[in-house]
Amino acid sequence: MRDSQMLQHGRTVKLSQAVLVASFISLWQQGSDIYNSARLAGVTISHGQLITGACTTITLLIVAVILWRSARALRNIGQLAYVDELTGLPNRRSFDAILSEELKRCAKTGTLAVMYFDLDRFKSVNDSYGHEVGDMVIRAFGGRIKSCLRGPDVIARRSGDEFAALIPGIGDASRLETIAGRIFEAMRKPIRVGSRDIYLGVSIGAHLVDKERVSAAEALRRADFALMQAKEAGRNTFRIFDPHMAEEIRQRGVLESDLRRAVADNQFDVVYQPLFTMTPGKAAGVEALVRWTHPVAGEMPSDKFIPVAEAIGVIGQVGEIVLRRACAEIRDLDGLKLAVNISPSHFVQPEFVEMVTGILVETGFEPGRLELEITESVFLTDASRAADAIARLRGLGIAVALDDFGAGYSSMSYLRQIPLDRIKIDRSFLADLKNHGSSAARLVDVMIELGRSLDMQVTAEGVETLEQLDHVRASGCNEVQGFLLARPMRLDELHRSNLWVQHRPMIEQNNEPDQIGADLKVAV
Ligand code: C2E
Ligand code: CA
Ligand code: CA
Repeated sequence: MRDSQMLQHGRTVKLSQAVLVASFISLWQQGSDIYNSARLAGVTISHGQLITGACTTITLLIVAVILWRSARALRNIGQLAYVDELTGLPNRRSFDAILSEELKRCAKTGTLAVMYFDLDRFKSVNDSYGHEVGDMVIRAFGGRIKSCLRGPDVIARRSGDEFAALIPGIGDASRLETIAGRIFEAMRKPIRVGSRDIYLGVSIGAHLVDKERVSAAEALRRADFALMQAKEAGRNTFRIFDPHMAEEIRQRGVLESDLRRAVADNQFDVVYQPLFTMTPGKAAGVEALVRWTHPVAGEMPSDKFIPVAEAIGVIGQVGEIVLRRACAEIRDLDGLKLAVNISPSHFVQPEFVEMVTGILVETGFEPGRLELEITESVFLTDASRAADAIARLRGLGIAVALDDFGAGYSSMSYLRQIPLDRIKIDRSFLADLKNHGSSAARLVDVMIELGRSLDMQVTAEGVETLEQLDHVRASGCNEVQGFLLARPMRLDELHRSNLWVQHRPMIEQNNEPDQIGADLKVAV
């Protein structure tokens, strides 16, 4: 039944109820008048007449009660159609209706903002703890947003973990930023479910409706664009829609379809960056890094297209292309170890381990020479699947390394529970070594010490200077990777470099930078 029909029906029932009650009262009065007049006139009323009167009255009473209850039920159904059952907040339908009304009002008098909120990594809460906990988290999230808004503001749950708010009379972006700041602050406290503390970030997008009049659908679309941008920028981010965003979104759409074509036509290349042991300073292995040359735009930076490949679900295909090609190309290079990056969503796919073993068999690559690099976010994607895949891979002799260690979400409990072969300290820490001196140096030492105490090998990434190299060598790091030693190179360059054969002494502290460059040129 449509909303308008249901309301119409409810009104009809109420009207009939009122008529019935009125008839009942009038019948009662008439009955008692007749009874009294008859009594005064000395006329006897027969039992039959009395029973008929009473039956009519009771029947009318029953009909009135039935109609009353059905009207109440209809009113509840009507409310359900507008209220989100889980949170008790307005739902998408009522939000849209209120927004349309407010936009009409705002056309005459002023401004209004539409905000969209989305929990970061809510899916992993549902996957790890189940839907019941997920529901509690959603209720708590709704409550926290509400506590940050004022009386006239409207907050609604639109779907899943997505909430929207309508803020009338808001004139400028700075007030929206204040509201967003309050919500980030409120979400800093963990959500307590039973004995668990769940920490979640939130992404916020908003559209400020002012001079330019837009439809409700367009206002929502713009707030949603802004939310998408916020999500892409990382956890706890707030974005306000601006017209450039529409252009960015259009370009993103083009990139997505180009990327799909690139996967279908295999427009990818693989380059290899050598990984060096500390002593005696020879390349122990290489890390395979994907490259995409766009047919028009040319070389596309991997940090620009990999997140898009992840978002549109083609990263698994890209990962498979890189793994197959790298195994085939590195197989005959004298026992050189091969490290391949795997995206979290690919790693937790049910057939992932079978895919890897299939490629090893197909290319004749020894499992003991392969190392897969995953990032900590794999545990947030699906911790139990990730742990299972790690155990199975290691059981086959394939090593697993934790890449970009320290850069994102780090949990010591995963490190303790899930045995890994290596951590690769994120290159931002090495960069800090240059700028922040001793405190950054201590942090790097602690990470190296942590890896070693957990029986893991430790690699320092992004070594660009001799000072950095010296520091990590002195702290007991096992391997280094960085532009100081070698940049990523094409297969033919790698062949020519002979880096894994040549036992080259590690660069000495007293080398001048120019000499290092010359040295590397000769070596590479
Ligand atoms: P990553 O796994 O941390 O790879 C190392 C990145 O650091 C490479 O960038 C490399 O060129 C860069 N790098 C190495 N040494 C230095 C240095 O001394 N200084 C600086 N500033 N950078 C250095 P690239 O190739 O652009 O890759 C960026 C990221 O893209 C990679 O970071 C990895 O997360 C991802 N990626 C690359 N190839 C693949 C792939 O085949 N699959 C997946 N899933 N991700 C990949
Ligand atoms: Ca890596
Ligand atoms: Ca890395």
